[in-house]
Amino acid sequence: MIESLPLLAWPSFRQALTILIFHRVLAAPDPLRPGEPDAAGFDQFMNFIARHFAVLPLREAAERLRQGRLPRRACCITFDDGYADNLTVALPILEKYRLPATVFIATGYLDGGRMFNDAVIDAIAMTGHTRLDLTEVGLGEHSIASLEERRAAVSAILEQLKYRPPEQRRHDVARLHELSDCAPLPSDIMLTSEQVRELSRRGVGIGGHTINHPILASVEDDVARQEIAGGKQRLEAITGKPVSTFAYPNGRPHRDYAARHVDMVRELGFELAVSTAHGVGNPDGDSFQLPRFTPWGATNVKRCAQMLRNAWTGRAAATC
Ligand SMILES: [Zn+2]
Repeated sequence: MIESLPLLAWPSFRQALTILIFHRVLAAPDPLRPGEPDAAGFDQFMNFIARHFAVLPLREAAERLRQGRLPRRACCITFDDGYADNLTVALPILEKYRLPATVFIATGYLDGGRMFNDAVIDAIAMTGHTRLDLTEVGLGEHSIASLEERRAAVSAILEQLKYRPPEQRRHDVARLHELSDCAPLPSDIMLTSEQVRELSRRGVGIGGHTINHPILASVEDDVARQEIAGGKQRLEAITGKPVSTFAYPNGRPHRDYAARHVDMVRELGFELAVSTAHGVGNPDGDSFQLPRFTPWGATNVKRCAQMLRNAWTGRAAATC
C-alpha cells in the first residue's frame, strides 16, 4: 500500500516511542477548528495506526521503554483537556480497532465548563456581527465577515489571550462574548464527571492536566502545586483509581513549564509525564518529560511521512 511506503524507512535499530496528541475528534468538520480531525478522518488514521503500529497503553509503553523492551513502531494515543467527544466520537473508533488511549483532563472544566479558546471560537462562529471591536480589552479590531477573516481573527485573539493571567483572561473573554451579542455558548463541550467514569470503565487511561489549565511557568509555585495536586485528587475521586500520568498544560519545555514543575509532578506521586516537545521517547530520556507529536496532514500518506520525520529527527527531544 502506497500509504505505508514511508514506513520502510522507520528507524529499526533503536527504541523509539511515538506518542500522538489529539484534543478533539469532531462529529463533523468545523471550519473554525481546521486543526481538529473529524470522525471520518480519525477513523481513517486509526485504521492505519492499528495496521502498522504497535499501540500500547501509556504506562506500559513507558515501562517497556525504560527496560528497552519496546516493540518496533511502538505508539501511544493521547488526548488533552477532556472534551466530551473523546467519549462520544473517538472512543467508538478506538474500540473498533482495539486501540488503548489516555485522556488528560483539566478538571475545572468538567460538568458544563468551557476553555477560553472554545469560548472565543464559538462566540465568533455564532455572532451576527461582521466586525468586532475588542480594543477596550486590548485584542484589536477585526473584520469577521468571511470565513477566512473569522479564522484569522480567532487565531490572532487566541495567540494574545494564551499568556494573559487567568483572571484577566476570564474577564476579557466574558467581555468578548458580550460584545459579540451572541446566544449563550454551548455547555456540553467538555466531559461530565459521569462521562469520565465511563471512559475509565471502558479502559481509557485517565491522566492529570491540572484544574484550570494554567501555564505553570507563569503562575506562583504554590499555585502550580495546588493545580497539579488538585486535578489529580478530583480525578481519583471520580474514577476511584490512582491517577499516575500527567500532561503539562500547553507543554513546551522552558516556555510553559520548568524543571521545578517536573520535580513537583514527581513529588506529587505521578509515575510519568508528557510534554508537547516533538520527538520520540528513548530509553535515555526523562520519563517525566516524554515528547509527543501531532501529525497534522490530511491524508495517511502525509501523516505517515510526518511521523517518520518526527521519529528520525526527534532523538534528542527538548527537555527542561
Ligand atoms: Zn491542554
